[in-house]
Amino acid sequence: RIVYLNGAWLEEADAKISIFDRGFLFADAIYEVTAVIGGKLIDYAGHAARLQHSTTELGIRCPLDPDALLAVHRDIVLRNAVDEGLIYLQISRGAADRDFAYPENTTPTLVLFTQAKPVLNNPRIKTGISIATLPDWRWERRDIKTVQLLYPSMAKMEAVNRGADDAWLVEDGFVTEGSAATAHIVTRDGTLVTRPLSNAILHGITRASIIDLARNAGIAVEERAFTVDEARAAAEAFITSATNFVLPVVRIDGQTIGDGVPGPISKRLRAAYIESRLASAI
Ligand code: PLP
Repeated sequence: RIVYLNGAWLEEADAKISIFDRGFLFADAIYEVTAVIGGKLIDYAGHAARLQHSTTELGIRCPLDPDALLAVHRDIVLRNAVDEGLIYLQISRGAADRDFAYPENTTPTLVLFTQAKPVLNNPRIKTGISIATLPDWRWERRDIKTVQLLYPSMAKMEAVNRGADDAWLVEDGFVTEGSAATAHIVTRDGTLVTRPLSNAILHGITRASIIDLARNAGIAVEERAFTVDEARAAAEAFITSATNFVLPVVRIDGQTIGDGVPGPISKRLRAAYIESRLASAI
């Protein structure tokens, strides 16, 4: 793979970062993941806007202006001939002597790489996935997309050890979100229920698109927190994320959701998302 590191295009084996990089020592870094289909970027404007939110909240400087950042995204797809997959972008505050206080005048470290992945033909779409619920022990600024991913990683491993595909995280009895995705349910009267935006969850770009598409399709949407019990009794459940689009959930803590197969509203929203995002991909 050809990767991007601070203005240079390098073979991945030649891309090196300092051991003093604060991304490595403090997880003092943020990231974004953008899906690529047919060599085009999906929902790019949303990811670029959230990147801006994350860097602003942490006072990390993005080394490229918006036009240059888009150009690098386009270039990395071409250089790696990516048809379907993702672009990972990370910006850390940069390297400095180890100190909890932010050092002044560091040069941020900007990295982009690509990864091939079957997004449209993900084999789990037909079967749906199973979820285990676990306590949400992350920090309280989940609106910032930091690389502090150890707890989500532990939660996913615990879910897998319990025989599930992924974890939904729970705080005060309410589902916050998945380990790396937004959690949604559909009630028995066909209402899409998804947690409102706050610092308790990442503001999912796919979430925002799905809410719009649902409303346009005449599906009622309630932005409110839901409990694990409500999710287990729901007609349908699904997750959304940049590289999963809409992925049905058919089991939560061993309890079958609906008929145990991907539900009609989940399937409809997935199809609507794919149609609209392919049409607007750049
Ligand atoms: N919530 C968390 C914790 C995530 O890591 C992600 C990212 O994939 C999402 C939600 C979904 O966000 P998006 O739809 O922007 O990919």
